[in-house]
Amino acid sequence: MIKTDILVIGAGIAGASVAALLSETKSVIILDMEGRAGYHTTGRSAALFSENYGAPPIRALTRASRAFFADTPSGFCESPLLAPRGFIQLARADQMEKLQQFAKSGRGLQELSIAELQNQLPYLNTSNIVAGILEAAAADIDVNALHMGYLRQAKNNGARLLCNQNVTALDYSGTIWSLATDKNRYQAPLVINAAGAWADEIAKMAGIEPIGLQPFKRTAAVVQFDKPIDRGMRFLNDIDENWYCKPEGSNLFLSPEDEIASPPCDAWADDFDVASVIERITHVLDLKPVRVESSWAGLRTFAPDRIFVVGFEPAATGFFWLAGQGGYGIQTAPASAALAASLVLNESLPYHLEEQNLDAGQFSPDRFR
Ligand SMILES: Cc1cc2nc3c(=O)[nH]c(=O)nc-3n(C[C@H](O)[C@H](O)[C@H](O)COP(=O)(O)OP(=O)(O)OC[C@H]3O[C@@H](n4cnc5c(N)ncnc54)[C@H](O)[C@@H]3O)c2cc1C
Repeated sequence: MIKTDILVIGAGIAGASVAALLSETKSVIILDMEGRAGYHTTGRSAALFSENYGAPPIRALTRASRAFFADTPSGFCESPLLAPRGFIQLARADQMEKLQQFAKSGRGLQELSIAELQNQLPYLNTSNIVAGILEAAAADIDVNALHMGYLRQAKNNGARLLCNQNVTALDYSGTIWSLATDKNRYQAPLVINAAGAWADEIAKMAGIEPIGLQPFKRTAAVVQFDKPIDRGMRFLNDIDENWYCKPEGSNLFLSPEDEIASPPCDAWADDFDVASVIERITHVLDLKPVRVESSWAGLRTFAPDRIFVVGFEPAATGFFWLAGQGGYGIQTAPASAALAASLVLNESLPYHLEEQNLDAGQFSPDRFR
């Protein structure tokens, strides 16, 4: 039996980031069922940082995270976590109303004329696309550096990451949680459920009512086209979210922005979904596909209201949720981890979260009870 202050289930970005903060004052063990951290959703993202993505509480978490990305603590990683990219929402004539609604709801946005779009996107098919809106401050995230930075920080604080540890049972004795994996048994007064697509499964094992978290499959691929893609090209998104793409070397990283309900699993890409997004993109950009270099899929897991679930389970002592990060778990990780750590330690919210008018109640599991 291994004893610790806090057991974190899941070594994706959620588990790694909260473990990094809590291990400053507590002994922490992170358990993951896979052979390496980041195997599931964290290792499969589009790595975008956009302050205009998601519902208002998600946007506030993203804004509250920017300072960490832009001014990363020394020693956290060797190179900047953000690289300039810019994010353009594109619309056909029949999508103009949606584009205008987006322009009203967003911040830091700039309308681009057709001439400006053509200048930035030489392969643009202007018989199809009529308008675009640029979020110039959107950026690429170095997801691996962020994730490894948090794991390194946790390790330097004395936390342990134990892989190949599939949690199969959780039991509360009245003062302490006992967890069984296929290899060992662990005890701690506090368990953090950062199990991504499996977070409801973990709750069920603990005898706790699930939240109703739903994993949705999203497909991605890297495709070579007949012309080299400018590495400085913006991240392009269909305003109705039927496709997105950005440069990956001289190829395109693309997604059909599919959202297919799935049980928790090791998701995989369907060739049909990859073919359909290639077709959509060739309507917008004057390119011909040459080869699919790679394709994959990941699960984006949402609560019923699409807001994260961060907080103590009201029906069980010492069981903390950090789940439902959907399609925003990377760009919000610094603020989500700070929110979670302040709740776990019963401390007031850090200033950079309060500054964004973030209220812990918006994320609490209480709203589903
Ligand atoms: C195609 C795609 C594009 C995306 N693009 C972006 C983007 O541009 N920007 C952004 O911010 N976000 C993006 N996301 C979303 C982001 O990747 C997720 O929100 C985030 O990775 C979720 O992290 P997590 O730690 O909660 O989950 P995960 O990374 O899935 O981690 C959960 C961990 O729990 C472990 N686990 C589960 N059950 C058990 C068990 N019983 N015992 C032990 N361990 C267990 C798993 O092995 C896993 O490692 C994208 C996602 C996808 C799929």
